Amino acid sequence: MQVPAPFEYERATSVDHALALLERHGPEARVIAGGHSLLPMMKLRLARPEMLIDINDLSDLDYIKIDSGEIAVGAMTRHVSILDSALLAEHYSIFREAEKVIADPIVRNRGTIGGSFCQADPSEDLSAVGAALRATMVIRSSSGTRTVAARDFHDGPYQTLVGPAEMLVEIRFPIRPGSGSAYEKVERRAGDWAIAAAGTFVRLDGDTVADCGIGLTAVGVEHFACGAAEDFLRGKQATADNIAAAGQICHDAADPQADQRGPVDYKRHLARELVTRALTRSAARARGEKV
Ligand SMILES: Cc1cc2nc3c(=O)[nH]c(=O)nc-3n(C[C@H](O)[C@H](O)[C@H](O)COP(=O)(O)OP(=O)(O)OC[C@H]3O[C@@H](n4cnc5c(N)ncnc54)[C@H](O)[C@@H]3O)c2cc1C
Repeated sequence: MQVPAPFEYERATSVDHALALLERHGPEARVIAGGHSLLPMMKLRLARPEMLIDINDLSDLDYIKIDSGEIAVGAMTRHVSILDSALLAEHYSIFREAEKVIADPIVRNRGTIGGSFCQADPSEDLSAVGAALRATMVIRSSSGTRTVAARDFHDGPYQTLVGPAEMLVEIRFPIRPGSGSAYEKVERRAGDWAIAAAGTFVRLDGDTVADCGIGLTAVGVEHFACGAAEDFLRGKQATADNIAAAGQICHDAADPQADQRGPVDYKRHLARELVTRALTRSAARARGEKV
């Protein structure tokens, strides 16, 4: 039986309380949200926090709302709430499509968006969504609030810019009227982590790509995004050839590792194919087609 190393435990009653506890206990303290990533890491002794600060009572961090022209999602919002959100679905199909293929209902009922981003697993799905949509991360400490672009938030595998006395409190997604978005994932079996996955959005001006975002996970692109393919596509016609060429740029940018989920060539092939499919469906949705 795998058992975590000994630790102290305290339930935070407010964000300020959680931040005060983080400050008091220093770098050996960790917050625990859904626990679906942290607890397995602790059982394997890959994480050994001396103090766990439980933030599950912080219901004021559990929301999805429109705020100043953006969709604001509280860090304690569970996967299931994102999956079921009519507000998110109205603006971005990408959320429902990504959430449907994240783990299983047990994990989705407890796991949170904040925990997902902060775990910074290189195969994590919502980080690809955040990168594609160019989200903004809101980080709080007892001395104030700062914001970081989702594409700067990850500092390498399992590393983020959240400091030891800070918490991620909110993720903000710009609203882009008339845009279309989509998520494509290949997994070994239902509920598994991605072999590769891609999320995209496209905004059109006529048939020209006015703006687009391309997020990728599990294929070793930096910051879960492929800016070179976005730069290529912006200002071009949303034709099959141009979209396929953007997919090829993602193939070339991918630097995956061979593992039990597949060899390098296969993952790079998937990067191209999934980006191409996601962009094709995003553009069709931006034209108002039902796909
Ligand atoms: C069987 C299984 C299958 C899974 N499959 C997938 C999958 O296919 N795709 C996918 O994307 N994910 C998958 N996951 C991960 C799942 O999405 C987790 O819920 C998620 O990674 C972590 O969320 P959590 O709320 O459980 O975080 P926790 O485990 O509680 O925390 C994770 C880390 O984030 C930190 N943290 C949490 N919240 C905050 C905060 N607000 N501020 C600062 N730090 C914070 C914690 O200290 C910890 O270091 C899977 C998990 C399991 C167990």
